[in-house]
Amino acid sequence: MRAISSAQAAPAEAEDFCPSCKGVGYLVMDVPYGHPEFGHLIACNCRHAQRMQQRREHLFAISNLGPFVSKTFDNFDASVSGVARAYARALKFAEQPVGWLILFGGYGTGKTHLVAAIANQVLNTGYRTVLFAVVPDLLDHLRSTFGPTSEIAYDERFEQVRGADVLILDDFGTENATPWAREKLFQIFNHRYNYKLPTVITSNRKPEEIDPRIFSRMSDRELCDEIIMIDAGDYRRTTAPGQRFEPKKPEPPRRSGRRDVDRTGRNF
Ligand SMILES: [Zn+2]
Repeated sequence: MRAISSAQAAPAEAEDFCPSCKGVGYLVMDVPYGHPEFGHLIACNCRHAQRMQQRREHLFAISNLGPFVSKTFDNFDASVSGVARAYARALKFAEQPVGWLILFGGYGTGKTHLVAAIANQVLNTGYRTVLFAVVPDLLDHLRSTFGPTSEIAYDERFEQVRGADVLILDDFGTENATPWAREKLFQIFNHRYNYKLPTVITSNRKPEEIDPRIFSRMSDRELCDEIIMIDAGDYRRTTAPGQRFEPKKPEPPRRSGRRDVDRTGRNF
């Protein structure tokens, strides 16, 4: 193969050029006139790398990971007592996302950091859709797209969540448990259960407080061989502020007092 002649190449600084295609992005087959492949264009490897980068950026843009992009396995302190097992299981899941990973533990046990690290690592491989969703926010979002005027947006969004290659549901159990919310969550869990889709769930509730229909699916040994209980005291307090970790932030507000109202003011 050879580069398309420089006269056809887009003008650019010489050092920006890919040495193979001179920045055109395509190569022509180096075959004589009359050959069936004469004049055929082939994408250069640099174009492939660019497409992969675009795909990574697109996947990142739809993942909701914005505030958690700095959370990685490298900056998680696995030596804090009580988190070692959760760290090991999360790392294993990130390397090979199979089945369900379920982490129970109170606020400040590092759950969100660990599952964001999973999302960041899987996204960096560049070919899977990863959706990171804080459950109460996800339900707010679904409610806001749900209604007679926006059925299509709702269906699309719901399908995107339900069918993501890897779905990470953070803070499950704190959402306002209206019948509507319970039903939506059950549909998501049930779909992921039936199709055995890789799913990560964190909760600061006690297992017995989880919707029994969902908990029975979490307890299926074929999908999830162990439910991890993190008992780390307060992960953020035990790691030195100002060094590798942020100082402890105030407790997030409890969400139980909020009313579930959609745009039209109807209660769900
Ligand atoms: Zn090239």
